[in-house]
Amino acid sequence: MTSLHQIICDEIAERGTMRMDRYMALCLMHPEFGYYTTRDPLGRTGDFVTAPEVSQMFGEMIGLWLGQVWSDQGSPDGALLVELGPGKGTLMGDILRVLDKIPGVLDGISIILVEQSQVLQKVQQITLKRHNCIWVRNLREIPQGPLFLVANEFFDALPVRQAERIDAFWLERGVRVENGKLVSGHIPLAEDVSLTLPATARDGEIIEWSEPAQRIAGDIGGRIAQHGGAALVIDYGSDGGSGDTLQAVRDHQFASVLDEPGSADLTAHVNFSRLADAAAPAIAAPLWEQGRFLASLGIGHRAEQLSAHDAQGTANALDRLTGPDQMGTLFKVLGLRPPEAPPLPILEDAC
Ligand code: SAH
Repeated sequence: MTSLHQIICDEIAERGTMRMDRYMALCLMHPEFGYYTTRDPLGRTGDFVTAPEVSQMFGEMIGLWLGQVWSDQGSPDGALLVELGPGKGTLMGDILRVLDKIPGVLDGISIILVEQSQVLQKVQQITLKRHNCIWVRNLREIPQGPLFLVANEFFDALPVRQAERIDAFWLERGVRVENGKLVSGHIPLAEDVSLTLPATARDGEIIEWSEPAQRIAGDIGGRIAQHGGAALVIDYGSDGGSGDTLQAVRDHQFASVLDEPGSADLTAHVNFSRLADAAAPAIAAPLWEQGRFLASLGIGHRAEQLSAHDAQGTANALDRLTGPDQMGTLFKVLGLRPPEAPPLPILEDAC
């Protein structure tokens, strides 16, 4: 039994069934026993591997895209290059290596990393030691200015709430204790629910939504619309919702969400249409699949160059990032820009 298990049981004993978003927030970010606060989970020796950890090609393509947007928008001064949830700092390192080759982009730019885990912040400081970076815990702490923001596998880590249709009523899903074990439970849905649930639904239907995701998307959209820039959100998910997508992964395997809290990564699929709506008045480009996006940016050419050093490794990485049965179609790319800005490269190119 983990210490966090006891903390959660105590809180449930005191306050009753715990909402799913509270459970997820404690599991991931409890200051002492949270999943991200106690470890670096990324990479082959960790619990999961993300695209930037698969190959430098991923971050290089994103860097090219960001450099193009910056130049399309008239090379604004005082730009902010921001990453949400930077993991090991690998993606930002690869982006900066590319931007360094485009004259002018990095002059006077502020590089800001939004990270709540002290452990990962230390890893990022080592990866990015050659650069002048600023760390904050929350997007709200960053100054205003043209914002060039990237978030890879960040939004899936934000806590979700779940409503379930039971006997023709919507109830909120949560966690309760039975014989010392955490089991799923229900509570009446609070009045303050931030979305409209359909008046009719079949029994057992589940609707999932993330209030922090909506808030952060709203903040990004407002900043971009007012000060210029763009955002690129890459994650697994779909255009609409798809029921209960909360999942736990430990040591590269699916695990039970309620088992050993704090010891597995908990994520939920990102509902991109809701993110795009929350980001208004920023304009959302049509949603793209990661594989097609990277291919259009020229990842194939970059792979040819890198093959000279490691043909098999590069071919494997390219397949992992773009293959339809790998990350190529499950992962989606959402681009945001100000209403009056030029269309986003690739994402808004005429087909
Ligand atoms: N983007 C990285 C890491 C993805 S893992 C990559 O692609 O490899 C999720 C990251 O988001 C971790 O760095 C985690 O610590 C961070 N994170 C999760 N929830 C957060 C929150 N609410 N605020 C800031 N960072 C958060």
